Amino acid sequence: STDKEVAVHTLAEPHVAHNYSPLPVTAASAEGAWITDVDGRRFLDCLGAYSAVNFGHRNPRIVAAAIEQLDRVTLTSRAFRSDRLEPFCAALAALCGKDMVLPMNTGAEAVESAIKVARKWGYDVKGVPDGLAKVIVAGGNFHGRTISIISFSDDPDARSGFGPFTPGFVSVPYGDAEAMAAAMDEHTVAVLVEPIQGESGIIVPPDDYLPRVRTMCTERNVLMIADEIQSGLGRTGMTFAVQHWGVEPDVYTLGKALGGGILPVSAVVANHDVLGVLHPGEHGSTFGGNPLAAAVGHTVVEMLAEGTWQARAAELGNRMHSGLRELIGHGVIAVRGLGLWAGIDVDPALGSGKEVCLRLADRGVLAKDTHGSTLRLAPPLVITEEEIDWAVAQLADALRSE
Ligand code: PLP
Repeated sequence: STDKEVAVHTLAEPHVAHNYSPLPVTAASAEGAWITDVDGRRFLDCLGAYSAVNFGHRNPRIVAAAIEQLDRVTLTSRAFRSDRLEPFCAALAALCGKDMVLPMNTGAEAVESAIKVARKWGYDVKGVPDGLAKVIVAGGNFHGRTISIISFSDDPDARSGFGPFTPGFVSVPYGDAEAMAAAMDEHTVAVLVEPIQGESGIIVPPDDYLPRVRTMCTERNVLMIADEIQSGLGRTGMTFAVQHWGVEPDVYTLGKALGGGILPVSAVVANHDVLGVLHPGEHGSTFGGNPLAAAVGHTVVEMLAEGTWQARAAELGNRMHSGLRELIGHGVIAVRGLGLWAGIDVDPALGSGKEVCLRLADRGVLAKDTHGSTLRLAPPLVITEEEIDWAVAQLADALRSE
């Protein structure tokens, strides 16, 4: 960020660490797809907290489940059982077509946990010599902010100044199945991949990529871990993005929308032959799977099991994408994505992604830039057709004028 941005931010929130450069909008309340700021101005939320608010702000069914649970029990730690955890895990496993769930809190924790599980599986089940497990990742990935996760990032902002890094990862270009096959050896325990890369700019891989990754993982006895933290849970028009290509990974990492827009809930989901490698004392989290999180997560799973959210995302997504495609040549260079999820490359001559987002905010639409001149839209799935059309019109206007 520029010095000016830092200065403005410092003024606004002097006690908040400067690891973000937020748009100058201060939310005071929100409902559905709309956020109201401290001055009473309303904004259409086209970011949806990076896909964590799939079901709308304060979705009444999720809020009701949370309130009911707030009045019963909220936190036990895993030292005792709660009556909420097993039903939540059973329902989530069923949604994923798997039989076990490791509950965690944030997305990064789910990814870290999946890597730990894959390494342990490699040693205990596959027979990889101790300490030699290798995980293959894709260039341009974003899986979170912990030391191990940034160790295999290729984003200089995410990495610089944070070493030394965790070994055991090999990165190959995203979308390149040949490169992945070439990188696999007898020590490879897992492939970790975003079915559609989110932070990288909503990058949809070639159609044969994920099926080929699936096949090579099966043939080489390697776990396929699909990070569906941003792409999953209805966003793309399917429960999971991998379903667009008929692929079933061995392990899912889930987060964001699993918490219903209320609290952090994440999970690693797999079959017993994988998650069964964890024994008491080998992994844990004080808050992971707490009764409040389980009640909220269970409600989210029940809502998704009905299928209507996915259908809505697919239908409204078509409308959003066809509207956005009409802007190609009028300030937009390319549009990517599936469902209610779009990466929009704007003509850099018209301003940076951040500048376009500021102009959009002036017009009452909240969106976020990713890299350079790419905007990302991930509105709550409760958004209406009229609101989508209006947001697209605001973008057209923001690209026409300052
Ligand atoms: N994985 C993916 C694909 C993500 O998009 C993100 C967040 O943007 C994460 C993991 C990290 O999630 P969290 O910010 O909850 O740690």
